[in-house]
Amino acid sequence: MLQSASDKVSHKRSEFLPFHKASVGQQEIDAVVSTLRSGWLTSGPNAKAFEEEFASAVGARFAVSVNSCTAALHLAAEALGVKEGDEVIVPSMTFTATAEIVSYLKARPVIVDVDRTTQLMDAEDLERKLSPKTRAVMPVHVAGLPCDLDRLKSVVSAKVSVPFIEDAAHAFPAQYKGRFVGSISEATCFSFYATKTITTGEGGMLTTNDEKLAHRARVMRTHGIDRDAYSRSSSKDPWYYEVVDAGFKYNLTDFAAAIGRVQLQKAEAMRSRREEIARTYQSAFKGSKFFTLPMGAEAGSLHSWHLYTLQLNLDSLTVDRAQFARSLRELNIGTSVHWIPLHRHPFYRQKWGCRDEDFPNASWLADRILSLPIFPDMSQQDVSDVIEAVGQLTKNYER
Ligand SMILES: *Cc1c(COP(=O)(O)O)cnc(C)c1O
Repeated sequence: MLQSASDKVSHKRSEFLPFHKASVGQQEIDAVVSTLRSGWLTSGPNAKAFEEEFASAVGARFAVSVNSCTAALHLAAEALGVKEGDEVIVPSMTFTATAEIVSYLKARPVIVDVDRTTQLMDAEDLERKLSPKTRAVMPVHVAGLPCDLDRLKSVVSAKVSVPFIEDAAHAFPAQYKGRFVGSISEATCFSFYATKTITTGEGGMLTTNDEKLAHRARVMRTHGIDRDAYSRSSSKDPWYYEVVDAGFKYNLTDFAAAIGRVQLQKAEAMRSRREEIARTYQSAFKGSKFFTLPMGAEAGSLHSWHLYTLQLNLDSLTVDRAQFARSLRELNIGTSVHWIPLHRHPFYRQKWGCRDEDFPNASWLADRILSLPIFPDMSQQDVSDVIEAVGQLTKNYER
């Protein structure tokens, strides 16, 4: 008879360890309170300062603050001229936001398979899927491991001349060959969603070195109006503005930006703690026949370690990933899955005819990946509890 995994375990945590918990404390609270007291609630002095500080942190000329990474991706693609009939390359292993903004613009998301080890966009499949209709390429730095941008760009530039929009929702701070992600391509988009490496609750940033792109994104961020309320507030006739296009409503509130400025100061310390946790996991699971471990960054690059994702070697286990995750939950350890790949969702299957066999690596990963808790406020005991629980389950479920 099957016993529940937790019956056999001596070391069940007394409290549930969530998969993620944001590191927000008194400094963030103080920043919000003083912003609310200032009377300027919509995008204002904090949003402007956050943009300047963020641009300087990644070494980009311009940063445009928005209320989500999805908004940043949409504005970038719009500013780069993606339109009906175009094709935009996205990887299958990503969150739907990467591809959905392509649909917003009535273009076609062309989904590319990923590498089985890194989970990042596969250069060979990318090469196969480039066409004269390709208008942009959107690599995703999954987990905060930088894509090999030089390789991807050389594959692309051999066939077509199109911009890159990096989805860096996981990749702050991260570096590719000594350069910060955010300073490299035509456009890079960051997320400050509640579970990301730095958070403003909801929020995002678009970085670019292209002045025209930055200007277009700023205009379209606020209804296609040529100047936002804050820059008008100090002008002679602050009521006057001109609408130049049908834009969107994507600006960041000033109290969210105030949180972001505090988080930005803590970003490297938080990254470094996550790296320490990742190292502890790596040495605990090294050589295990039950898992394939995530890759570290190459020398000269920097991993943000937003996620720590194991691949379960299903041949060595008597249970599938879903049962493994449920059993960890019984032991009071939260986990998550990043992600169910795009090509397995009904929308992409029905609208674009995606099939599992066209994405062998993403399909392989889809059944095996499991993300463990990795956040800066985890204690050493929390980390040990995860390792212990995982170790216990591999004993219970060894094939
Ligand atoms: C979270 C996430 C997004 C969307 O970020 P929002 O700020 O919630 O819009 C986009 N892409 C990836 C890869 C993500 O993980």
